[in-house]
Amino acid sequence: MSTGVAAAAQAEVRFPPPRLWIGNEWVEPEGGSVFVTENPATEEPLCPVAAAGAGDVDRAVQAARAALGGAWGETSPRERGRLLWRLADLVESHIDELALLETLDNGKPIFESRYVDVPGAIEALRYYAGWADKVTGRTLPVEGPFVLAYTLRQPVGVVAAITPWNFPLIQTVWKIAPALACGNAVVHKPASYTPLTALRLAEMAAAAGFPPGALNVVPGSGSAAGTALVAHPQVAKVSFTGSTEVGRTILRGAAETIKRITLELGGKSPNIVFADADLDAAAKGAYTGIFYGKGEVCAAGSRLFVEETVHAELMEKLLARTRRLVPGDPRDPRTRLGALVSRTQRDSVLHYIEEGKREGARVAWGGEAVSIDGKGWFLQPTLLDGVHNDMVVAQEEIFGPVLAVIPFTRVDEVVELANASIYGLAAGVWTRDVGKAHDVARRLQAGTVWINQYNWYDSAAPFGGFKQSGFGRELGREALDAYTEVKSVYVGR
Ligand code: NAD
Repeated sequence: MSTGVAAAAQAEVRFPPPRLWIGNEWVEPEGGSVFVTENPATEEPLCPVAAAGAGDVDRAVQAARAALGGAWGETSPRERGRLLWRLADLVESHIDELALLETLDNGKPIFESRYVDVPGAIEALRYYAGWADKVTGRTLPVEGPFVLAYTLRQPVGVVAAITPWNFPLIQTVWKIAPALACGNAVVHKPASYTPLTALRLAEMAAAAGFPPGALNVVPGSGSAAGTALVAHPQVAKVSFTGSTEVGRTILRGAAETIKRITLELGGKSPNIVFADADLDAAAKGAYTGIFYGKGEVCAAGSRLFVEETVHAELMEKLLARTRRLVPGDPRDPRTRLGALVSRTQRDSVLHYIEEGKREGARVAWGGEAVSIDGKGWFLQPTLLDGVHNDMVVAQEEIFGPVLAVIPFTRVDEVVELANASIYGLAAGVWTRDVGKAHDVARRLQAGTVWINQYNWYDSAAPFGGFKQSGFGRELGREALDAYTEVKSVYVGR
């Protein structure tokens, strides 16, 4: 058993073989295609990974269909719950190994993967294990020649889960746990940058007792494996988390066969600090809101709205914290800011910083790329002050450790500015005035609002977006609706 972050940093990691996971077996991809996943902190290759093509995706879908028509389709709801619980136990017994694997693949600090990512995945597995035998229909008060009418909640069928690279294990579990709890079979395509923990998880699901085909994993590119999944006529539902741009493509592709869709997309979330807030807490919230997870967080509080009268004081507190945040080896238990996931991502973030400067923002801290021993896609934590809400850095998702600070003077003004975005994923409100907090929370167009807090997630609370941040919800009981069809049954005399 683990002793925490120090043990995780030294854990023995098992890399999955360069194979697809189909029908509870490692399967050679058609044509033997592989790609190599890298450690973004060292630029070193980690291991080869199989790349699925359209034929492989079809094999996985057929395995999922066979599972639904066989042992998995006959598994009782209570047994599905037991299996999910057993999987959670297995993940827990491998917590250090999975944490290190996530850190090596993604570049996030081991402190985060050991204390947030893997525990969060375990918790979500157990949450949905609890739901498995509590998904019920209703009896209906219909008129006519009936003795009874009722609804059934049934699995949708084969679910395609497509996930991004920023929280690889958690995003996987947020999809597969409710999908499996409801009796669906899953074909999962993880992001190419970070496929490793999903492959290990699938292997553990087989060890936990999930029958062949209940969970299949087909790593590969979005353009090949992703497109094939979305186009496949026997996939009933696509649950996608990723960029708004790819979400749009998926929506179009899914229209052809009228697939059910859940889209969790990008964000540009406002974090609003009123002058009457506890400014120490707000500065800490603004800091974790943008720098947690390297800012590669869909709900990152990337627009900090500060009431003008406390702007200078808040900036001082924020700067005091930010100055101490130095990018470091993600494997070091003391590191709190790791490497961005790839060179492309690091360069894209740098490009936004330049764009911000060009538009007149002032770099109050950071702004430069960093390397460790000449390697890695690190970036200084960056504060851009004097930003206007209509600048590119306040409108586009940067997806890195870059905060745009925007002063305001009135409540109505800040609500309008906060809502002036194509996105609507999350928001933060910092104030000691209870009435104002609830009033602003109600008026913000966002799927999640944190009051005097930021970046908190719980399996019981639905998570998802307004506007172009997507539709449908993950987590909570709401996710169960996304993975079931409702059937009305009338019983005549
Ligand atoms: P991305 O959209 O580039 O890729 C996401 C996944 O989709 C990957 O597995 C990718 O291979 C696949 N994909 C790409 N093109 C595809 C296609 N044409 N058809 C099918 N699949 C395809 O996103 P990313 O760069 O991996 O992740 C970052 C983005 O994800 C950010 O925009 C972020 O805001 C978003 N995100 C949202 C949430 C949320 O819950 N709302 C959570 C995490 C990340």
